[in-house]
Amino acid sequence: MDYRKITVAGSGVLGSQIAFQTSFKGFEVTVYDINDEALERAKERIEGLKPRYQEDLGATKEDVEAAYGRMSFNSDLKQAVAEADLVIEAIPEVVQIKTDFYKQLGAAAPRKTVFATNSSTLLPSQFAEATGRPGQFLALHFANEIWRNNTAEIMKHPGTDESVFGDVIAFAKAIGMVALPLQKEQPGYILNSLLVPLLEAAQLLLVKEIADVETIDKTWMVATGAPLGPFAILDVVGINTAYNIGLAKAKETGNEHDQKAADLLKSVYIDKGKLGRETGEGFYTYPNPSFLSPDFLRG
Ligand code: NAD
Repeated sequence: MDYRKITVAGSGVLGSQIAFQTSFKGFEVTVYDINDEALERAKERIEGLKPRYQEDLGATKEDVEAAYGRMSFNSDLKQAVAEADLVIEAIPEVVQIKTDFYKQLGAAAPRKTVFATNSSTLLPSQFAEATGRPGQFLALHFANEIWRNNTAEIMKHPGTDESVFGDVIAFAKAIGMVALPLQKEQPGYILNSLLVPLLEAAQLLLVKEIADVETIDKTWMVATGAPLGPFAILDVVGINTAYNIGLAKAKETGNEHDQKAADLLKSVYIDKGKLGRETGEGFYTYPNPSFLSPDFLRG
């Protein structure tokens, strides 16, 4: 099926980006959120995206205004999904909120509508029942700054119809994403299944005092040709997010080094306002971090 009308539910950080990217690529998009104040905030966020599309993608003013013109905003769920071929859900990462939402959505949406969750950490099978249409439900997971970091991980749950999986893969490509299909459910999808262990291993090398930040990053960069080492990646992810993940792991394992790694992020970085690239300092200082200096990879 060719999707034309898309509703994005939840218009926060990711929802605004998904909605704007989708309309930028020519689709008609309805943005849904719980009330009109939330939708006003979404409009402000989207205003902020327009210059980014112009700077990063070379889009013209006409392009971004035309994209905005294809968007509408509605806080009435039934109206917002009345014509939707596809609803992309980007509401808070809270099981109860999502479960309640899918029950309401399943009752409000036409029979044809497919639902996709952008959840980062929850599996679609957790909500399949609540949707009332498990065959037409799956995960479609984007990365922050979707217009530049254009991955779309498309993940089935055991009940997803094969044709729906194929249609959502085609849709992801149509909105400019590199479509990355996952044939089975996997917590963390592909990217975080690779990235989280790398970042954790780097932090353990540091707290065990095996090597310093720059040596660890240098090792990874020289040996694999990667443009960033794990600590430079942590600065992009943001130290708060890294801390939340690290703390959850320390609680789960009870491991002393995991706890030490979380404590280090809190006391040396978060408490001093060093939250990574967005604050200009984390493991490195920006805009000229040492790992970008020509000598970094030589010595
Ligand atoms: P956010 O807090 O910025 O936005 C959530 C939005 O959902 C808010 O506008 C809020 O008003 C709205 N909302 C709350 N309850 C709702 C309901 N019942 N119905 C409709 N809207 C509701 O959150 P976010 O960072 O955009 O994350 C949203 C989802 O996207 C989460 O599942 C998260 O895991 C996922 N995600 C986030 C990122 C990221 O970098 N922020 C990246 C990939 C995926």
